[in-house]
Amino acid sequence: MAAIIDGKEFAQRIHDFVRAQVWQIQQDAGQGSVPGLATILVGEDPASEVYVRNKGRKTREAGMASFQHRLPATIGEDELLSLITELNHDANIHGILVQLPLPAHINSDNVINAIAPEKDVDGFHTRNVGLLGSGQKAMLPCTPLGCTLMLREHFGTLKGKNALVIGRSNIVGKPMAQLLLADDCTVTIAHRYTENLIDHCRQADIVVVAVGKPGLIPGHWLKPGAVVIDVGINRIIQDGKTILVGDVDFASATTIASAITPVPGGVGPMTIACLLYNTLTAYCRIHQRPEPEETGFTLAQGIGQLREFREAS
Ligand code: NAP
Repeated sequence: MAAIIDGKEFAQRIHDFVRAQVWQIQQDAGQGSVPGLATILVGEDPASEVYVRNKGRKTREAGMASFQHRLPATIGEDELLSLITELNHDANIHGILVQLPLPAHINSDNVINAIAPEKDVDGFHTRNVGLLGSGQKAMLPCTPLGCTLMLREHFGTLKGKNALVIGRSNIVGKPMAQLLLADDCTVTIAHRYTENLIDHCRQADIVVVAVGKPGLIPGHWLKPGAVVIDVGINRIIQDGKTILVGDVDFASATTIASAITPVPGGVGPMTIACLLYNTLTAYCRIHQRPEPEETGFTLAQGIGQLREFREAS
């Protein structure tokens, strides 16, 4: 049976680390100085409302400031761009997140590229995309970053692994492939027109699936011992109840894979944890403090700092 990669537990460790770092910032810079994250939700999509609410709650639990902006679906692009300009200049805000998708009359690229790149904690701005693609220091997109951290922890090193990324969206598939390439994997990217997907699956030591189709990948497509990261979130009705499932047929995959992320409890919690981590990183860059990685960030160190934090508070 496959090991279950516990994204919830890993996310909690990152969360604890961020919380301890925020506490350290308050010791150094005064109580009023904390990283601040602004979220913008346009319209009333129920799933987006849940995501934004959870992001706000987790931000506050980490000791950071959360500023939530809710705008009607009818808002014009110019008005949205003005709000972003205001947030770009607000010294209390270090991260800006625009919840996607936006209504069809708003051009998402214009909106994302209006965010100051140093506050682009989703890592979607063209500048950050270019920095990642050219191997330079970028703000990394949260979901692919979370997947990469789980894979690194599982394998130690990803060097030389055959990795298959299924899905090529700008927010998951493409940056995921870039990160795996940066970790010296041999990467294949599959999409809707990929022929014989099963053959690509059979070759892959790592399979990251980000499509949005339940049951797309059955267990018998996998190479025995493969590690599977299931990014998909699909709502299906089972026994009269709505449940969440991924893109991989979990029951059959666990009999072939060596490790797999569950849905829920895998990639989802890691995405939010990485958003907090990115907001902390943005604060450090803006205030020219050593970034978490430059301080030799390890999770063990994070836990140590948390203990100090608990004892002090
Ligand atoms: P998206 O923009 O709709 O992209 C889906 C991708 O899947 C596209 O590249 C598409 O190919 C490809 N695809 C569609 N059918 C396929 C098939 N039969 N075989 C192979 N590839 C196929 O979706 P997304 O935003 O990347 O999200 C993907 C899934 O991840 C969704 O379920 C979403 O809810 C979930 N998600 C989860 C998190 C999290 O935190 N857990 C975060 C983000 C997204 P083409 O490009 O050829 O159309």
